[in-house]
Amino acid sequence: MSDSRNAVSADQPGGVPGSGAGASLLAASPETGLAPYAAHASRTRGRRYPELPPAARSEFQRDRDRIVHSTAFRRLEYKTQVFVNHEGDLFRTRLTHSLEVAQIARSVARNLRVNEDLVEAISLAHDLGHTPFGHAGQDALNDCMREHGGFEHNLQSLAVVDELEEHYGAFDGLNLCFETREGILKHCSRENARRLGDLGERFLLGRQPSIEAQIANIADEIAYNNHDVDDGLRSGLISIEQLAEVELWQTHYETARAEFPRIEGRRLVHETVRRIINTLIVDLIEETSRNLAKHAPQSIDEVRGAPPLVAHSTPVAVQAATLKRFLYRNLYRHYRVMRMANKAQRVVTGLFAAFTEDSRLLPPAYQSPDPSAQPRLIAHYIAGMTDRYALKEYRRLFVVDDDA
Ligand code: MG
Repeated sequence: MSDSRNAVSADQPGGVPGSGAGASLLAASPETGLAPYAAHASRTRGRRYPELPPAARSEFQRDRDRIVHSTAFRRLEYKTQVFVNHEGDLFRTRLTHSLEVAQIARSVARNLRVNEDLVEAISLAHDLGHTPFGHAGQDALNDCMREHGGFEHNLQSLAVVDELEEHYGAFDGLNLCFETREGILKHCSRENARRLGDLGERFLLGRQPSIEAQIANIADEIAYNNHDVDDGLRSGLISIEQLAEVELWQTHYETARAEFPRIEGRRLVHETVRRIINTLIVDLIEETSRNLAKHAPQSIDEVRGAPPLVAHSTPVAVQAATLKRFLYRNLYRHYRVMRMANKAQRVVTGLFAAFTEDSRLLPPAYQSPDPSAQPRLIAHYIAGMTDRYALKEYRRLFVVDDDA
């Protein structure tokens, strides 16, 4: 089922360096062992702007490479997950989070014989649209944008790869494949879905994305639940004693202690966390395999028409939800995290107000002669900031006698 709709015609002007000529290098395709329900790069629904096929790599590998080389990807290093970037060198940032998501997602994908290149591309791109200061920043920006269509980080990730990156001569954005974009857009309001055409369709029809997108989505949760426990303990905001109420933690903590009675501290935490991650991954593979056997999808389209297939078993899902609730109560709502969130909110809201009041304060690329287009450009500008850049920009605008 080769898709001719998006095949590049011979008269396609230009082409991308390294494209086309070496197509024979793909003879040893990494896709040969894929299951029928996997996303096959050779059958992609294509890119918004047709391009010649890549040489020596698949379409999804090309997507992954474009993501890694993007500016937004490099900025993830200085964006918060839970802790503000400068709080400590050992905490996760959105960059290391995205790498952990990709690692987990690839392990699951390989076991299910689906496309590792695609899950990697989706995982690495899934947080590109995050504002500075994590969820506090996103909530603040959403409040600022309430009268102007709101702000949602999934949609912003899509805006980054579809419009905002300025890398290529022939198009704005990264011009990624449909399947990669589908995976990036995890959630979407019905209103936005209508505006998004083929990409939004599934939200209106109640259909699912590819197996690869479903894997990246759950890999995200596995990654943050575990690294937030790890970072939470490292920061001292939560304790091992508190975690005793969480079955998923306590079971593996006791196993680790039984196996290594002499270890303690960081080493014991890590021995526990790695067991939790492993349990979640193995359970995910087993339960999803059962779902695949039951529904027996024969193509990616049948996956899209089936119920969600990538899932934990019920007992493990319950355990994971308990851990998530624990983190919410004890870490994300910890007073020291709330103080940071409050400060973040003030920075984002203050920046937005200042730029709205006088758009001449914005860099020229973000100024619009059309007043109705201005709020979205301000949101793009703020969303693209790293934590430290946002703080610096705030000081520049609000602190008198600052040397900035
Ligand atoms: Mg994430």
